[in-house]
Amino acid sequence: MKRICPRCGKSSHDAEFVGEFCASCYPVEIKCPSMVEVAKCSRCERLLGPRGWVKEGQFDFDLLIKRNCKGKFIEVKFDPVGGLAVFWVKAGSGETKVERKVELRVQKGICSDCTRRTGGYFEGNIQLRGEERKVQKFAMKIANELEKKSFIAKIEELKEGIDIYFGNRVAAIDALNEFGLSYYRTEKLAGERNGRRLYRTTLLVRLGKKEE
Ligand SMILES: [Zn+2]
Ligand SMILES: [Zn+2]
Repeated sequence: MKRICPRCGKSSHDAEFVGEFCASCYPVEIKCPSMVEVAKCSRCERLLGPRGWVKEGQFDFDLLIKRNCKGKFIEVKFDPVGGLAVFWVKAGSGETKVERKVELRVQKGICSDCTRRTGGYFEGNIQLRGEERKVQKFAMKIANELEKKSFIAKIEELKEGIDIYFGNRVAAIDALNEFGLSYYRTEKLAGERNGRRLYRTTLLVRLGKKEE
């Protein structure tokens, strides 16, 4: 039996049908808020996404929309400039695209890293020791890695090597692991803040023959 789509008038001879509609007019239940807010740090320009503070280029807008919209969709792509979310949904034996307008609103503020950085905060230091050439090379690599995930409070060049003061000890340990560097860890009590004991972590790295 030939069917006519009540929305666009296409016939079932020309298009695939799902129920009484053609596949492209098939009503799909997708609920999106008309606006989604994203926090942006005015100092470092990073955005707060589903995976923490990241640079705009690394921000997962698709995931943000996925978390904020409800419905049975296979995939979603979001264009933050045009504020258009495109959903792929199952329709019959194939897939069809459904569009929703979602305005992206940016809330300006200061991220926790920038607040701490300007307050002179740090959680400890990495002490790089050994041959000067290697110390320089690894200092650069580690500094790059730390800047990606957290921040560096200061870098001190000393006679015996380089000290990198870091804002986050987890990020610091991750960076050392990333480059396969072993370290000797010590903790020192540095005082109290709001009734909590503050520790400073020193990670001593001796660059020897095996580290290249
Ligand atoms: Zn139709
Ligand atoms: Zn910031």
